[in-house]
Amino acid sequence: MPELPEVEHVKQTINRELKNLKIERVEVLYAGVLKKPSDPSQFTHSLVKQTLRHVDRRGKYLLFYFEELILVSHLRMTGSYDVRRTTDPLANYAAVIFQFSDEQQLRYHDLRRLGTMEIYFENEPIVSIERLGIEPLSKEFTVTLLQQLGMKSKQSIKNFLLDQRKIAGIGNIYADEICYKAGINPGRKTLDLTGDDWKRLYTTIVFVLKDAIAYGGGYTFYKKHGYYPFSLYQRAGSPCEQCGTPIERVVVTKRGTYYCPTCQT
Ligand SMILES: [Zn+2]
Repeated sequence: MPELPEVEHVKQTINRELKNLKIERVEVLYAGVLKKPSDPSQFTHSLVKQTLRHVDRRGKYLLFYFEELILVSHLRMTGSYDVRRTTDPLANYAAVIFQFSDEQQLRYHDLRRLGTMEIYFENEPIVSIERLGIEPLSKEFTVTLLQQLGMKSKQSIKNFLLDQRKIAGIGNIYADEICYKAGINPGRKTLDLTGDDWKRLYTTIVFVLKDAIAYGGGYTFYKKHGYYPFSLYQRAGSPCEQCGTPIERVVVTKRGTYYCPTCQT
């Protein structure tokens, strides 16, 4: 489940491997991911002969900047990108293949096929990202702003962290890790947090996201090495790293939520 750190890792990889290369052809194996335009031949036609200037990230969205257009991609539950040589064997669930110059391919895979791709022209408003909230790793993100957003939201802290219109990029896994490392019960209302809680929450959001990026994306790390570099995720019943109490899994407004009942108050 890609969240900000995983998407950031994809962005960095593609910028390193494919920047300034030209798309020679596009092969659509599963057209369901194409949302704008949804017609595969139109989609393909727009991208062929375009040179990739750079890739940016906004929340959990990837923005591929070409000469005249922008490809906006959201990975949803199971989308992933791989940069491969043209001759490398194709993995399962490949949905779209971008053939770049220099024998390089960008391959998009998606097991559950919920990801989306949209093409926008320069100067056209990118509707998908218009309502996204603050980037938590930007310099504009401060304790004061976090507290202001939180006090307005009046939700549980877990819901607040997941609300993409408030803070962009945090999903279920990192929301739990952040609450755990900040010692805050995920079900607590934002209105009940003290000034010290907000300060701790702010520092923890920045730390957890940066730390996961350093791992190349915590979930990406899991797929590579077979274990999660997380304190809580899928550890229900295992002892808390800090106090030994078994980690519990509860449902907070329809989302599976891990927490330590002793450390998080
Ligand atoms: Zn604990």
